[in-house]
Amino acid sequence: MTKANYPSDKFKDIETPFYYYDLDLLRATISEIKTQSSKANFDVHYAMKANVNSSVLACIQQASLGADCVSGGEVKAALDAGIPASKIVFAGVGKADWEINLGLENDIFCFNVESIPELIVINELAAAKGKTAQIALRINPNVSAHTHHYITTGLSENKFGINMSELEKVTDLVVTLPQIKLIGIHFHIGSQITDMSSFQALCVRVNEIQEFFDSKNITLSVINVGGGLGINYEHPNHFPIPDFDGFFKVYREHLELRPHQTLHFELGRAVVAQCGSLISKVLYVKEGTTKKFVILDAGFTELIRPALYQAYHRIENLNSELPDEVYDVVGPICESSDTFVKDYSMNQTKRGDIIALRSAGAYGEIMASQYNLRPLPKAFTSDQLV
Ligand SMILES: *Cc1c(COP(=O)(O)O)cnc(C)c1O
Repeated sequence: MTKANYPSDKFKDIETPFYYYDLDLLRATISEIKTQSSKANFDVHYAMKANVNSSVLACIQQASLGADCVSGGEVKAALDAGIPASKIVFAGVGKADWEINLGLENDIFCFNVESIPELIVINELAAAKGKTAQIALRINPNVSAHTHHYITTGLSENKFGINMSELEKVTDLVVTLPQIKLIGIHFHIGSQITDMSSFQALCVRVNEIQEFFDSKNITLSVINVGGGLGINYEHPNHFPIPDFDGFFKVYREHLELRPHQTLHFELGRAVVAQCGSLISKVLYVKEGTTKKFVILDAGFTELIRPALYQAYHRIENLNSELPDEVYDVVGPICESSDTFVKDYSMNQTKRGDIIALRSAGAYGEIMASQYNLRPLPKAFTSDQLV
């Protein structure tokens, strides 16, 4: 069994559970994003909601990626991390007044607007401050992402964005709002998308929508196609960096940008997922009547993805090279859903072994909770443990 090259000798001195971030892998991933996106007029923003660990954000900021935020807290975190307001975009179906005001006060680059009532509120709040808000319309393209239904966002049944049938009405309204400047259109069809044909379908839809704006004589400088590129949860050791070349190529080949337009991306998972692991210790190996359970000191309070989306994370025993046995790997929380994986083959395991739950850099630490009054997990980076 190939395992990650982790400093497991250092891990044994640290109280578990904790998150571990391999910053060399993160920097290599960002560098690949930069190389591949610079083949065209593409600009990548990092989707803050995936992970806001300060060391991770420092790498994002040093590489001059922008930030895609979905709350006032994230706008503030991006600014605090030194990401310039001119590279911050703010999306979300339910922006509160204080959050919109925060964006206005800091002159963020763009609000991705998801409804007519939101458009009217932004116009009013901007007027009160004597400002003009740059906005992009988030359009629901009714394109399927072929992913888990909890992380599909671009179908007309989903709560996100403005439906295509409303487009005419919305654009007619936008041009009458004095404190609003329409600069672009925005899309985000879902997450953990590995089938490139979904992105190709989005390109086709964007091309159609561009024709609509052309017919209205409205010039857009930004087309924002969101994020959603998936990663390989089965084989993190073989595919540590996602295929950004293949991903951007879909857009280079299928999306017809106008000469002065920039194409924006908002990648979260694909940037940070593979660099993070949740490190845990085996508390007990319990023999059931038909099963063996490996009971970890980490549960869905530290990593909720398996319980929330039936997500799979590869699990490695960093201390055992013994032959494989079959286990259910579970956490200590008083809920049956606190199971990471069932009937899983891994090296024979005993109390005290250190376990790595792989590909946990995205939607891991940030989703941790204190349920059962458990403390929030700490985090360490490869830079700290050398
Ligand atoms: C969550 C989200 C993203 C990032 O999604 P990933 O699948 O992590 O790349 C991008 N844009 C918006 C609007 C989002 O809500």
